[in-house]
Amino acid sequence: MQTIQSVNEMQSHAISLRSSGRLIGLVPTMGSLHEGHLELIDIAKEKADKVIVSIFVNPTQFGPSEDYQQYPRVLEEDLEKCRARGVDMVFNPSVNEMYPEGYSTYVEEEHISAGLCGISRPHFFRGVTTVCLKLFNITRPDLAVFGQKDAQQCAVIKKMVADLNLPTEIVVGPTVREPDGLAMSSRNTYLTDVQRREALSISKALRIAKEMVGEGTRSVDRIVAEITHHLSLHRRVRVIYVQVVDKETMEHATEIVPGKQLVTVAAWVDQTRLIDNIEL
Ligand code: AMP
Repeated sequence: MQTIQSVNEMQSHAISLRSSGRLIGLVPTMGSLHEGHLELIDIAKEKADKVIVSIFVNPTQFGPSEDYQQYPRVLEEDLEKCRARGVDMVFNPSVNEMYPEGYSTYVEEEHISAGLCGISRPHFFRGVTTVCLKLFNITRPDLAVFGQKDAQQCAVIKKMVADLNLPTEIVVGPTVREPDGLAMSSRNTYLTDVQRREALSISKALRIAKEMVGEGTRSVDRIVAEITHHLSLHRRVRVIYVQVVDKETMEHATEIVPGKQLVTVAAWVDQTRLIDNIEL
């Protein structure tokens, strides 16, 4: 497995791989890899000839009071996991390599990124689309694999790819959960045992919502009220949003149409911001 820090080197490798007819699969990550990331790698390996994993904690997607400094950085462990999973190349550039002094170009999706996380994290999607477009230009992927756990991010990236006519297929892998249901996240490492137990209320509430729809509930208000009530029983959990949205456009739904929507939650568990969603 090769590890590459230089943009130019990564780009010339990618260009020569492509010209030799090899299909490139990219899995963009911020590192601190867990099974959720590794299953995206498995999907990329099935679909592509060469798999590149990028590991880059992207400063432009963090707001000034967010956890950029604190974000876990465990490169050696990540490289070991990538090696064991059969990754061909890891691209782990420095911040200066990606954003040299004087950097001033950003790309912004204006519609899908406006709601949900876009409200509470106004810098976030502009940073994500910018870094993903840069990573796509550097690694020239035929396909890039993202996780359904970040459903709005998937929708925003798909829209950017369509709007900007990028030659990359966006593949979405399912949310990988701990055995008790907690969605895996690098930020789970921030949680104490007590906080982790409280965090579990998020996936439990989503499962309750799905059961309600299975049993015939069609009122969005009832679903949202039930989730909000369930979360309110946990004193460390503060809801940022609970919404039922169209799974492609992320537009707010007024009535449940099974198979077309997901219910999505963002919440603080003390100082840790977690998100999760489930298809209805
Ligand atoms: P991150 O390192 O958190 O930026 O995530 C990198 C990629 O992994 C994104 O496409 C995420 O959606 C995906 N991902 C993170 N957690 C999970 C999970 N539990 N299951 C599936 N994919 C995930």
